[in-house]
Amino acid sequence: MTAAASPSRAAVARFRTVCFACRKAAAPSFTAFCSDCGAMTDVAYDLSRVEVRESDDPYLRFRDLLPVDDVRLLPERTLPTPTLHAAKLGDVLGLPWLHLKDETKDPTGTTKDRMAAVALAYLQECGVRGFCTSSTGNSSTAFAHAIERTPALTMYLFTAEQFRDRVHARASERVVHFLLRDASFVDAAQAAADFAREHGLVAEQGFFNPGRREGLKLAWLEAVDQVTRPIDRYV
Ligand SMILES: [Zn+2]
Repeated sequence: MTAAASPSRAAVARFRTVCFACRKAAAPSFTAFCSDCGAMTDVAYDLSRVEVRESDDPYLRFRDLLPVDDVRLLPERTLPTPTLHAAKLGDVLGLPWLHLKDETKDPTGTTKDRMAAVALAYLQECGVRGFCTSSTGNSSTAFAHAIERTPALTMYLFTAEQFRDRVHARASERVVHFLLRDASFVDAAQAAADFAREHGLVAEQGFFNPGRREGLKLAWLEAVDQVTRPIDRYV
């Protein structure tokens, strides 16, 4: 297996960031798009080394399936959120085994807490120190909450003013918040990318940040434990 990441990762080689299309190994630094073909990158694991641990805490139970080596960067003492059998709604929809994952139990009340916890740890271990991002609320609120655990990171957050009431990000030395007047979500994303380029920072890339998707995955992994029969579809 080719080591494809920072020195701490190279020693472990438990996972690699690779191109989703051509499978080329990405550079050790944060890389959202393949330098050869331009496709998005993804995390590939050595599944022969994956073990599901004896723990209720999803960050410990599934740690072999997370792209983070230093477990101290991840949340502590986290419990799985409930998966509820939505029998009445399922009757209406003709789906008798419909289940809902209740992510309101996460620290800031949305599934973006999982995304933020893993994405920030991943960014820090990729050597990122300052990153620029934009959001309409949930993601940046979750980032601002989770950044306490990744002391090397500073977030430069760009929000269109129309979404200001949905973003709960207390400004600090680690969270620099820009509110943009007369701007749309797309304008805010562009401003974040421009600021990153002008100041030598990393543009975090939203969904194209592989660490984000790896964090969200925890909800599905938990559901496999919680639903008593095989799951046909995840939405
Ligand atoms: Zn490629």
